[in-house]
Order: sequence, then structure tokens, then C-alpha cells
Amino acid sequence: MHIYPVFLPLKGCPFRCIYCDQYLITGSDHFNLDEHLNDIAAFCKLHSSDEKEIAFFGGTFTALDLDWQGEQFAKLSPFLDDKTGIRYSTRPDCITEADLLLAKESGVRTIELGIQDFSDQVLSQSYRGYNQATAIKACKLIKDHNFKLGIQIMPGLPGFSPQSLAETTKLILDLKPDFVRIYPTLVLRATKLADLYQEGAYKPLELKEAISICVDLFQQFTASNIIVIKMGVQIDTLDSNAVVAGPYHKAFGELVKSHLLIHKLSKQIPQTASKLEIIASKQDISKLTGHANYGLNLLKQIHQDKIFKLTVDTTATKSIIRINSK
Ligand code: SF4
Repeated sequence: MHIYPVFLPLKGCPFRCIYCDQYLITGSDHFNLDEHLNDIAAFCKLHSSDEKEIAFFGGTFTALDLDWQGEQFAKLSPFLDDKTGIRYSTRPDCITEADLLLAKESGVRTIELGIQDFSDQVLSQSYRGYNQATAIKACKLIKDHNFKLGIQIMPGLPGFSPQSLAETTKLILDLKPDFVRIYPTLVLRATKLADLYQEGAYKPLELKEAISICVDLFQQFTASNIIVIKMGVQIDTLDSNAVVAGPYHKAFGELVKSHLLIHKLSKQIPQTASKLEIIASKQDISKLTGHANYGLNLLKQIHQDKIFKLTVDTTATKSIIRINSK
């Protein structure tokens, strides 16, 4: 799926959430759809035969009135066809039946909800302004109207605990969204969360902890056919000086994927072997090695007593990794 993102930084948001600074994250400080129309036309031409969506991110789309929403949809209507739809993100307490009826007749296919956590404790300590029941109701409403549903969560918010994580995970598995985004909480400068952190009232997740949480969530969600489309905030959307604290890494998603691969591979490694040759396609060897040798170092850490040799097999089928052991 190709996405053309249009950012509406904080537009419609009833207040600024304690961790959020969309100006920093999106690098954009205003919204004017007209400025995007030429690029949208080029995007649609480039991907004319592929599935694609024009997406409104970074604000609370449905907190803006229906006339305004309708105006945006009307501007996009010339681009829509059987392969091209609209997507928007919003808050679970700001979406109504009327929004969905308008969305349905205007070519919206996918709705992403920034839920962040389903635990009432986390929602209240993070001042999100709604509770679990509201979040569940919004998910069901979107599914009942046959939109694709995406859920965004932010492990590590104030009040987060292993129990809250288990509660959120179970509810996502029960609600069966089409996809999730997992953004471990970062402390961005000039946010309320940064103040809480400086006062010692908030402790973010460590990088290792965040990776391990994402590894676990990725496994559980994909096993239930829920696609994880993103993990961690990407380097091109965030100036790294903006992060005061928290599990930030420019290749966070890659680290999680290396972790998953190494754990899968480890299950095939005989305990008794002292020398191992891992043979795979160039692409898989590179995934295994991981960003800055992260995967390889992890492998060596788990199997300290073994010697590893990585061999590229240009004839190897993708995702088939062979192991020769001695
Ligand atoms: S509702 Fe979303 S975009 Fe708006 S301030 Fe909160 S987190 Fe940021």
C-alpha cells in the first residue's frame, strides 16, 4: 500500500497531549491541502496501478466540523478510483456516526485511532481525556461501518506497567484491528512529559525494554493476523535533538526485526555445536547482521561459546536460512 501523507499538525486536537509535539514530529507547522494537490496528482500517476491512500495525519481530523471535512474530501475526489482511497487518523473520543457516514460516501477506506493504551490507569495518568470504554466503542463503531481499522499504541506512558501492557494487548487481540503501529513513548523537548521527566515524576522505558516489548507484541499480533505496520518513530520524521529521553533509536524497527530473526534462528542452533556457518541470501544475511551489527552481536551474546561464520548464497531462496554446525 502506498501512502501520500498530508499533515495537519495539531489541527482539531481538543488540547495538546502531554507527550505530543506534532510540529517536531512532522516537521510541518501548517496545513493547506491545496499546496499538496499537484504532488498528489503525481503520486497517483506514479502508482496508477497500485493500491494507495491519501492520508491525513498529525491532528484530530474528525474533531473538525463536517463541512470542513467535506471540503477536504471534495478536493481529493478527482483522484479517487477503485485503487485509490482516503485515510485519516483521529482520537477515539472524537469520532461519531455522522463522521463515519460522511467518510463512507467520500472515499475514506481506513481510519487510524491514536488510542495509545487501553488501560484506564495509563489513560488517566497520561491525561488523554477518555477511558477504555470510549476507546473500545470507537474501534467497534469503525469496524461496524466496514472501514479498515488501525490502532496506534504507545507503550511506556505514565502509569504503564506489565499489567497495563497485558490488558492493552488482550484488548487489541480481541478487537482484531487490521493493523497496529507501536510507538514506544519518547520524551520530546518542551512537552509536559519532559517537565515530568525533569522533575523525576516520570521514567521512560529503556531501549532494551522497549525492543523486548515490541518483539513480544509483534509476535502476538502477527500470529493473530494483525499487521504491525510500524515500530518506533522514524529518523526522517524526527530531529534526534528533539528527544530528551526515552527509547529512541534511528533504526528502532530494524532492531526489533533483527531481534525476532535471531530468536527464531537460535531455536535451530544445536546446543552442542561449537562452530556454525549460517548460509542465506544477501538480503537475509544483511537482516541478520542488523543495524550496526546489532543482530550479530546479539547472536554472539546468546551463544557465547560458539564461533559464527556468515556465508552469502546467491542461489538461496529468500527467508530460507541454513545452518551448518560442527
Ligand atoms: S490528539 Fe494526537 S495529535 Fe493531537 S495533541 Fe494529542 S497526540 Fe498529538
